[in-house]
Amino acid sequence: MKRALITGITGQDGSYLAEYLLDLGYEVHGLVRHVALQDGRDRLQRLTPILPRLRLHSGSLENAASVFHVVQRVQPDELYHLGAQTFVPYSFEDAFSTLQTNINGTHFVLEAVKQAAPHCRIYFASSSEMFGNADEQPQRETTRFHPRSPYGIAKVAGFHLTRNYREAYQLFACSGIMFNHESPRRGFEFVTRKITQHAARIKRGLAKELPLGNLDAQRDWGFARDYVRAMHAMLQQSTPQDYVVATGETHSVREFCELAFGHVGLNWKDHVVTKPELHRPAEVFTLIGDATRARQELGWSPLMPFRELVESMVDHDLALIDGLKPTP
Ligand code: NAP
Ligand code: GDP
Repeated sequence: MKRALITGITGQDGSYLAEYLLDLGYEVHGLVRHVALQDGRDRLQRLTPILPRLRLHSGSLENAASVFHVVQRVQPDELYHLGAQTFVPYSFEDAFSTLQTNINGTHFVLEAVKQAAPHCRIYFASSSEMFGNADEQPQRETTRFHPRSPYGIAKVAGFHLTRNYREAYQLFACSGIMFNHESPRRGFEFVTRKITQHAARIKRGLAKELPLGNLDAQRDWGFARDYVRAMHAMLQQSTPQDYVVATGETHSVREFCELAFGHVGLNWKDHVVTKPELHRPAEVFTLIGDATRARQELGWSPLMPFRELVESMVDHDLALIDGLKPTP
């Protein structure tokens, strides 16, 4: 039985990945912050259905010793490093702590594997935010990085650290350059979930307005459950490589609003108000990925179409309000 260790297991991707690996017969371990073990009902809610099958270890990405001890104790065959401060606007507000957690955290993980479990294969959750204002469309593995936020800068550093541990110490370490991926488990502050939650609340008469920032921003939005398959596939290759994971389609925030509100019979223009304070100091205007390498070498392709993704998120948020579903 293969043993996997996931950092960020309590998050959107971590929860889908844990389910996927359990289904494949893995023994799944997670590194979680100590508070999650103290206050599990809230902080472990995405894991509720699979909790009895997981082995959780407390540790923080800010503390090298705790990361080292967990890696040494678990001796994983595969480590998926997903833990990070993930919200771009917060990375402007508190750049220092974002850089510290995201860069040092990645470095601690790589060094812990090098010292305590060098046989272990490592996946690093890299991001399309590294491309920022890219000088080519679509973006592929060879596109120049031009990050536009402390979050993006930290991902560039993590990407290069991962590559350097691969080249210098022969670790099997690779990065998935993942474009945005969403689901009913997405955090409420991200634009997709903010829109679907508000569309549902407005439909049920619980709210009237949805404040948003830049409606022209365009993203290549996929479904998170599809993306965790690619993470796993990368670690099953004969040689480690970095891969873009994307749908190859891009849509604007405005288009997302149209579909989400339209799905519940509302006109988004009656409810969306734009607020200058929700614009970012430096914006990433358009992202669209070319996942040819992942398609050809990993046999990966996304299954969920964009419209279905939006509608399933709205349906889920309606069901949450109506008390028909537990929080995912
Ligand atoms: P998420 O839902 O925000 O989850 C982030 C995870 O990181 C949570 O489990 C969180 O734990 C953990 N974490 C944060 N700070 C930590 C710390 N100091 N010590 C230990 N754990 C810590 O993010 P996601 O959407 O699943 O994304 C997973 C990874 O993929 C992230 O690295 C993200 O940057 C990257 N990525 C995501 C996307 C996307 O569209 N979703 C795209 C590209 C790349 P708590 O529950 O304790 O807060
Ligand atoms: P990101 O691509 O990781 O930054 O994911 P987000 O979901 O946070 O943002 C996607 C895009 O939506 C960005 O270009 C934002 O500027 C834009 N956006 C517009 N209004 C909002 C808003 O109210 N909240 C968030 N989070 N993003 C918004």
